Amino acid sequence: MHRLTGFMAENVYIVENGDGLVLVDTGAPASRRLVTAKVNALGRSLMDVTHILLTHFHVDHAGGASGLAGLSGAAVCAHSGDAPYLCGDDYVRSVYWKGILGRASLLVPGAAHSVTRVPPVPVDLPLEDGQVLDILGGVEVIHGPGHTPGSVSYYLREGSILFTGDVVINTYRFLTPPTVGFSVDYEEALRSIRVLVDRLEEKDVSVVCPGHGPVVDRSAPEKLGRLRDRVSRKES
Ligand SMILES: [Zn+2]
Ligand SMILES: [Zn+2]
Repeated sequence: MHRLTGFMAENVYIVENGDGLVLVDTGAPASRRLVTAKVNALGRSLMDVTHILLTHFHVDHAGGASGLAGLSGAAVCAHSGDAPYLCGDDYVRSVYWKGILGRASLLVPGAAHSVTRVPPVPVDLPLEDGQVLDILGGVEVIHGPGHTPGSVSYYLREGSILFTGDVVINTYRFLTPPTVGFSVDYEEALRSIRVLVDRLEEKDVSVVCPGHGPVVDRSAPEKLGRLRDRVSRKES
């Protein structure tokens, strides 16, 4: 598993899958050449990418999907809740539905749009919670709405690796919920973290790969547990 960090401080993960490659998120549109360079550095070409697993539709994670899917022919996978925003059928009037930023964004027509809109990309495989993809030895889809309606984590059974997108990030030297201003429903995002950590209790988690910040490869279950405690305190 290889990580690269794009121009918007977003993480893109490249997972080797036999002869092929799987991308978890694509980065922003401008990060495409970084992804291509990393793939080439692995002695591969974009044609080897078989699947693009998107954690959610935000431009820093899915912005490169259109270009990379076009060049590779990879199957684009995302939760059905975010599919309309990826396909270009719809765009969330904003990431800022609630709160001060939500009201502020309404005063600047198009502002939110420019932040959230991704170059449209068809979703080949719309995903649902609990679905297991038959790649990489089984990839479980865990729906975690709140940051966006269709935010998901992906759990790789082989290696017990959890990709969280922006459901859980790691930019403050410990695991946290996503940024409040960029989340459509922050309360729901907090609830989703609790549900996620509860569900992971019966699984091993050796590695957490967040959408932003470094990978957690030591004491991952304990760190997730502490995150759940902090989130529960915020909720009550
Ligand atoms: Zn996001
Ligand atoms: Zn992000």
